[in-house]
Amino acid sequence: MPPPETPTRSVDGLAAVVTGSSSGIGRAIAQRLAEGGARVVVNSRDAGRAAEAAAAIGHGAVPVAADVSDAAGAQALVDAAVEGFGTLDVLVNNAGIPLVRPAEEITADEWTRVIATNLTGPFLCAQAAARVMLAGGGGTILNISSVLGAVAIPGRTAYATAKHGLDGLTKSLAVEWADRGVRVVSVNPGYVATPFVEHTMRSGRFSAADIERRTPLGRLADPAEVAEVVAFLVSPAASYVTGAQVPIDGGWLAYGGW
Ligand code: NAD
Repeated sequence: MPPPETPTRSVDGLAAVVTGSSSGIGRAIAQRLAEGGARVVVNSRDAGRAAEAAAAIGHGAVPVAADVSDAAGAQALVDAAVEGFGTLDVLVNNAGIPLVRPAEEITADEWTRVIATNLTGPFLCAQAAARVMLAGGGGTILNISSVLGAVAIPGRTAYATAKHGLDGLTKSLAVEWADRGVRVVSVNPGYVATPFVEHTMRSGRFSAADIERRTPLGRLADPAEVAEVVAFLVSPAASYVTGAQVPIDGGWLAYGGW
């Protein structure tokens, strides 16, 4: 693909789907894209939560209740963008669930649920989105991975395996679709202040102070700090970035100490 004539950081006019965007990082991303002029499909499994989030975000955001781990749910999200905006330029695979459990105690149902939500869901959404993007001249798929896509922590086997798989999916789809204009990128957040990390802190029996001690920047991220990097990566200014894993972790992965 030739470079865009005017590489811009603007997301104005882009048509986007952000999965799991009624709370946390996804909501911050949907908000940031909408404020930048993008047209956004906001998603939750619950219709009321999707509607509440879309109304709060404003800028014509469209709420869609769908479960990303289900092929029909993934298709419904893409269909809503095409019906509402005429196209789809950006998919942010954000929906995800945590699990903190010793590996020997993980049930088959728990394993299946984590893999279905955190890995199969992004694949199904990417596949549905790419059918539109490949036919329409391109687009960007942005996967919200984790530092646990790159390293492991005891008790996170299902989650870390899914996120390692998600980064593998990023590389695989990026090389397969690059010559047809679809970029695929992962970001790997460290610890971000959301309901998700509060749940992980409770079940993993660690505190915000433990995270702050282990993170070179000495604090958790605000969801808006993740959203800002995502907005850049889905913009034309990032036109040469594909197949990459971009840490947003306050130096967490770089730190080799205790
Ligand atoms: P969150 O719980 O606030 O948001 C996740 C959202 O996904 C929720 O609204 C949830 O309802 C939704 N969701 C879950 N399963 C779904 C499904 N099957 N279909 C549709 N929606 C579904 O958590 P968050 O911290 O904002 O997490 C967002 C993403 O960021 C996740 O993929 C998570 O793994 C990743 N992440 C979070 C952190 C962190 O510290 N918070 C760090 C690294 C990566």
